[in-house]
Amino acid sequence: MVGKVILVGAGPGDPELLTLKGARAIAAADVVVYDRLVPAEVLDLIQEGTARVDVGKQAGYHPIPQHEINALLVKLAREGRNVVRLKGGDPFIFGRGCEEALELERAGIPCEVIPGITAAQGCAAAAGIPLTHRGLATGVRYLTGHCRADRPLDLDWQGLADPDTTLVIYMGFANLDEIVRKLIDHGLPGDTPALAVCQGTTAREKRACAPLDKLPAAARAAKFDGPVLFIIGRVVAMAMHRHEDQDATYACDMAVG
Ligand code: SAH
Repeated sequence: MVGKVILVGAGPGDPELLTLKGARAIAAADVVVYDRLVPAEVLDLIQEGTARVDVGKQAGYHPIPQHEINALLVKLAREGRNVVRLKGGDPFIFGRGCEEALELERAGIPCEVIPGITAAQGCAAAAGIPLTHRGLATGVRYLTGHCRADRPLDLDWQGLADPDTTLVIYMGFANLDEIVRKLIDHGLPGDTPALAVCQGTTAREKRACAPLDKLPAAARAAKFDGPVLFIIGRVVAMAMHRHEDQDATYACDMAVG
């Protein structure tokens, strides 16, 4: 009898942000295959006796290539096991979850997806930022600031430099200088509020807030250690108005509402 694979989103860090459905699937699994970004507290939910496989990936360093992960999932399911494939945030937001789902489909293995709270939503909520807000942002775009090795960042800069849209940039640290320069060159004001969040929603969370043109310097000065997400847009001013612990030196000039 062939088993099945459930792709589960572990959420952004705080284990309480895992869905009930995800927690139940983890508790019922025969084997859990997980990534580097899965919070340790979520891994603690794995029952004793359940097999674990760490296929953790780091930027520029892939201990297990994607095609081998795909093959591993197929193999485990063919052995009749109930597999949970646990991924940080949401499996289908910059998580390569769909590549795994397609491979399983090709192999005739049942596959289910349990969504997770993506880093954008977790980090924004923790900072008190609404990703959309009447009068400040009519929409939000999730972007990757990283591209395949040897390829230039090929984003729709003209479309992105829109003051009415909140931008959330995943995997953007290495290319932040270029991202900020291109956005400003294409007309996004340099004083657009911006925030960098590291290890958002965990006890180790750190933030750096700055106008867009000073974001790279502020992010470097923060000496982050861990995954970093950038939120750019007028809505970021909402956080600065609400948290007194943050540097609000330029927030006073922001038009809110
Ligand atoms: N599937 C994940 C994203 C994986 S890409 C999701 O839905 O959240 C990895 C990138 O996500 C990191 O480089 C970072 O930009 C972002 N990220 C994930 N968790 C984060 C966290 N707790 N704090 C800040 N950024 C995070």
